[in-house]
Amino acid sequence: NTPLHQLDPEIAATLDGELRRQQSTLEMIASENFAPLAVMEAQGSVLTNKYAEGYPGRRYYGGCEHVDVAEQIAIDRVKELFGAEYANVQPHSGASANQAALFALAQPGDTILGLDLAHGGHLTHGMRLNFSGKQFDVVAYHVDEAGLVDMAEVERLAKEHRPKVIIAGWSAYPRQLDFAAFRRIADEVEAYLWVDMAHFAGLVAAGLHPNPVEYADVVTSTTHKTLGGPRGGIILAKKAFAKKLNSSVFPGFQGGPLEHVIAAKAVSFKVAASDDFKERQRRTVEGARILAERLTAPDAREAGINVLSGGTDVHLILVDLRESALDGQQAEDRLHEVGITVNRNAVPNDPRPPMVTSGLRIGTPALATRGFTAEDFAEVADVIAEALKPSYEVEALKARVVALAEKHPLYPGLNK
Ligand code: PLP
Repeated sequence: NTPLHQLDPEIAATLDGELRRQQSTLEMIASENFAPLAVMEAQGSVLTNKYAEGYPGRRYYGGCEHVDVAEQIAIDRVKELFGAEYANVQPHSGASANQAALFALAQPGDTILGLDLAHGGHLTHGMRLNFSGKQFDVVAYHVDEAGLVDMAEVERLAKEHRPKVIIAGWSAYPRQLDFAAFRRIADEVEAYLWVDMAHFAGLVAAGLHPNPVEYADVVTSTTHKTLGGPRGGIILAKKAFAKKLNSSVFPGFQGGPLEHVIAAKAVSFKVAASDDFKERQRRTVEGARILAERLTAPDAREAGINVLSGGTDVHLILVDLRESALDGQQAEDRLHEVGITVNRNAVPNDPRPPMVTSGLRIGTPALATRGFTAEDFAEVADVIAEALKPSYEVEALKARVVALAEKHPLYPGLNK
């Protein structure tokens, strides 16, 4: 009976229900992960009480001697982790980091060039209803027939529109971007290059993906996806952008930083520098490759299932259901029914509306954090392939999911 159970049993029940859901199902939303208990301890701590407007050593409030230490450790660790000259760990989320970064690099009305949302880009890269689409003149690039970012189009659009900022990054794309080519094009048209590595930051930290910090003027990220930390954002950059970025975050867009989250970010950066973390990222990528292989096998193809770009280099695959009897919504519901959580996702030139779609995005970071091995991922892939066939046996598939969940218990210490 915790203080929360005593004070607010209704909310306590939602936390208990969510814990049971996470423990008993297989989490395969590509942007999700399980933060370590140590990260959650820092996040649920007395630091939540502290105001600390400003930056370490230059605060507008007294009593910052301890949060100053925590924030400086977070800054130093993340700079070291990614080899960055500058870091800001205050953005409350990935979208906040992106807003601060974009307004530091460009003025409202300037042209920006980013990957189309329907082709895997993020809302903050120029979607019509987002601040980026409302306040900037957006030009979008796309993926080609093979599902790969069309660098010839990027170059053509950059030369034609001379954007102030070129954005490289994605929310739903299964391959590595060619950062060197983006840099060359940005230099040719005198644009800034901003990379949003929110999805693949964990792979970069583990050395399994090219590091955009070597190429970009500014790099933003979330801390809660492959990186496996608390929900939040960060900005990394060359030193020359430090002043502009700091003042864009505070006082530009934010007030008091969330020092409890910043302390939790520091813990997650320590974890991300460890050998265990590297091994986990290796299993993450291996798991995604196994999913791609099994979902392009002949019997999956017969059921109308395909994998965009034919495979993956990262922590996710994009399932193409255009030839399947199921649409994205139905496929998401089927997997939910057997205990696997994924999200439906538009495929390029999707014939169905955005709330339905013809695809699924399936990711492996959370299961890799639970300890899933190549053998376990092969079993997960087979369960998914079976569930997406015209006829499927719900109870048998549910039992296979339960067996996998029980094999790799999640947060066992939290069970009462
Ligand atoms: N950037 C990319 C590439 C993302 O995929 C996301 C989230 O999905 C974000 C930014 C935004 O992060 P947040 O949800 O923390 O605002």
